[in-house]
Amino acid sequence: MAEGIAAVRARIAAACAAAGRDEGELTLIAVTKTFPASDVRLLAGLGLTDVGENRDQEARPKAADCADLPLTWHFVGRLQTNKARAVAGYAGVVHSVDRPRLVSALSDAAVRAERTLRCLVQVSLDEAEGRGGASPRDVPRIADEIAAASGLELGGVMAVAPLGADPAPAFTRLAGIAAELRGNHPDARIVSAGMSGDLEQAIACGATHLRVGTALLGGRRAIVR
Ligand SMILES: *Cc1c(COP(=O)(O)O)cnc(C)c1O
Repeated sequence: MAEGIAAVRARIAAACAAAGRDEGELTLIAVTKTFPASDVRLLAGLGLTDVGENRDQEARPKAADCADLPLTWHFVGRLQTNKARAVAGYAGVVHSVDRPRLVSALSDAAVRAERTLRCLVQVSLDEAEGRGGASPRDVPRIADEIAAASGLELGGVMAVAPLGADPAPAFTRLAGIAAELRGNHPDARIVSAGMSGDLEQAIACGATHLRVGTALLGGRRAIVR
């Protein structure tokens, strides 16, 4: 795990140098889905402060197990409105807000939990059905709703690069959407993009938050759904 972290940090350093960016602008989120709470504990011991999960059923007990650790939990997966209340109990950041109904569910949940949830608008860059994300033309409206909602704070945008295509054009498009958003919401500076296979391209295109699983933790076993 320490080797994985060192290797990812070296990749980030090289990509920042190539892009003329400061490493301090990047937040590394360890995506720990399918790995046990004991691994989250080890990552925290190795200095990681941010962890990501994509399923509430798995994240909730893990976050409870690790409640004594100084970690920020990022929810990065598709989120059903009926899970909003549970997620608001442990997540600091929700990366996958893609529809108005989810905004209101998260707002109600955050108010009830007396917490502030930072929300990112997930953008669908290939308009593929089933992978989540708002159409780019819906981003401003969803962002405005988050910004106006009690208990929520608009953090910025998130995207997953389209499968099997060069990620650079998608990340460039995301950077444009993020810049437009900052025109109306100057504090919404988060651009969550880049995973194990494409973090260099994401950094070149202005990502601020990287969601990295495999390169830190090794391969995941297939999950049977
Ligand atoms: C699993 C996952 C990641 C991490 O993917 P790796 O390729 O293992 O780095 C990042 N983002 C989301 C939304 C994920 O579900």
